[in-house]
Formats: sequence, structure tokens, C-alpha cells
Amino acid sequence: IQSNYLTLADGQKMPQQGFGVYKLTDSATFTQTIKDAYEDGYRLFDTAQMYGNEDDLGTALKSLNVDRDDYFITTKVAEKNQGYQSAIDSVKESLRKLQLDYVNLLLVHWPINGHFFETWQAFEDMKKEGLTKSIGVSNYGMVHLQYLATQAHEIPVVDQLECHPWLSEKPMIDFNNKHHIVTQAWAPLGRGRIFEEPIIKSLAEKYSKSPAQIILRWHLQNGLSFIPKSAHAARIKQNADIYDFQLTSDDMKQMNSINKNVRISQEPELVY
Ligand code: NAD
Repeated sequence: IQSNYLTLADGQKMPQQGFGVYKLTDSATFTQTIKDAYEDGYRLFDTAQMYGNEDDLGTALKSLNVDRDDYFITTKVAEKNQGYQSAIDSVKESLRKLQLDYVNLLLVHWPINGHFFETWQAFEDMKKEGLTKSIGVSNYGMVHLQYLATQAHEIPVVDQLECHPWLSEKPMIDFNNKHHIVTQAWAPLGRGRIFEEPIIKSLAEKYSKSPAQIILRWHLQNGLSFIPKSAHAARIKQNADIYDFQLTSDDMKQMNSINKNVRISQEPELVY
């Protein structure tokens, strides 16, 4: 990985490419996987309370034996922990599991009805207290962000969204860009279901790269942050090896044309 960093609206720097740890639940191999990723140049690790592996990530980070400034950690507050005090209590528990004094980025995992604004107030206060450097959201649409903008002191600096060639989210990305919110793509590889797309396959042949590398290069050139996951050392390395070629503007147009507005997850509800 080339160390490309994006500057967030609050001035913090975030690696553009990261490593997602959803469904990495084998404690026996977890530390080795994080070591592999770190050696390949990944510096951003994306977990969540819901993934049940914050403690494994904490153990793995300790064993890297590097300075705290050498990695960037994101976690997300689960739906069941939304609300003012419960969000704060849950983040203190996350920090204990991660064996950290602070995370770099704290996200609200999903927009849910009810404690929407209270949770965000807790986020603003946790940032003031130093439990996190930056605060953001995940799976928030324009309605949610506009609502927060009218109520909150600070707006989210990151919106982590499902985004891949089948769900390119162009209007949402334009909206985020206009409001200085960095869009971070989750399931950037469409969870491995889109590699057979003819355009992706032909670009892979053209550049002697894999379909996964073509897709990640597309995210990179779109200026998004992206956090692919793999449990296999060779694929982790491969996903980091996307900095020695460039898609042309015509290739990018072809990639953009694959969009089908098809989701892996459920549609976030338009409620707050
Ligand atoms: P992904 O798009 O990263 O796909 C991962 C899958 O693709 C792997 O399990 C593997 O099957 C395949 N794969 C990866 N690299 C490959 C390669 N080089 N060649 C062939 N196959 C390959 O999907 P994901 O794990 O769902 O998303 C990435 C990360 O995003 C997660 O680990 C998690 O951190 C985050 N996430 C966030 C949310 C949210 O609501 N905020 C939801 C889901 C995931």
C-alpha cells in the first residue's frame, strides 16, 4: 500500500485504504492476519462492537509492538447501545477490549429510530473527552445527515456506506463531498460477488490484475476510502497491490456503467 492519507474535515488524517475485520472471528489466526495486513502496509483497521472481535483486535495490535500513531482504529456503536449514556458506556467497554486509550474514528453503525440525536450528542462529548479523535456515521443517507446538520454542533466527518460497482452511490457521494464528509466504502468488493462482471474481467485482463484489484483501483481513483476484508494472506497482499497501474477515464466510465443499485444489506430506514 502506498500511504495515501485523506484529511478529514476536523483536520485528522485517515489512511485511504484500510482493512475490514467483519467475520474475522477465529481468535487463533486473528493476530497473524493483522500482522500480515500490517506488513503489507495496511494502517487502518475497521471493527465494530457488533463484530465481537474488538478483544482479538486489541491483542493483535499489542503484538505488533509499534507506536500508537502507526495505526488508525475505527469502531462502531451497535444499535443496541445507542442512547446518550449507553453509547458512552459501550465505547469505554470497546476501549477496554481494544486495550486503547482512544480510537481514531468512532461511527454510529446504523441510523435507527429513537435515540438518534442523543447518540450523536454522546459522540460529540466523547470526542471532547478524548475517547475518539474523530466522529462519524455509517449507513446514513441525506435525510439523516441533513437532520443532524440542523441539530448538532459538529457534522460527521465520515459516512461509511455500502459501495461497490453494483451500488455506486454517485448522488450520495456527491452530497458527502459537497459537505466535506469522506465517503468510506464498506463491502468495496461487493463481498466477492461481482468478480464475474464482463467489464471487470476484461479490465483485469487488460492490466494483468485480478478483478478485486480493478475494483479497488476504481474506488481509489474515485477518491473514496475503502476497507476490503480477506482472511487469506495472499489476497490481503493482492488487495494492497493496486498502486502500480492506473485506469483511464474511459475505463472509469465503463466501471461506472456497471451500477445496478443492488444492495447486499438492507436499505437503511429513512427515520430518525
Ligand atoms: P468485501 O467487499 O470486503 O468482500 C470480502 C470478501 O471478498 C472476502 O470474504 C472474500 O470472500 C472476497 N475477497 C476479498 N479479497 C479477495 C481477492 N483478492 N480475491 C478474491 N476474493 C476476495 O466485504 P465485507 O467484508 O462485507 O466489507 C469489508 C469491511 O467493511 C468489513 O470487514 C467491515 O469492516 C466493513 N463493513 C461495514 C458495514 C457497516 O454497516 N458499516 C457492513 C459490512 C461491512
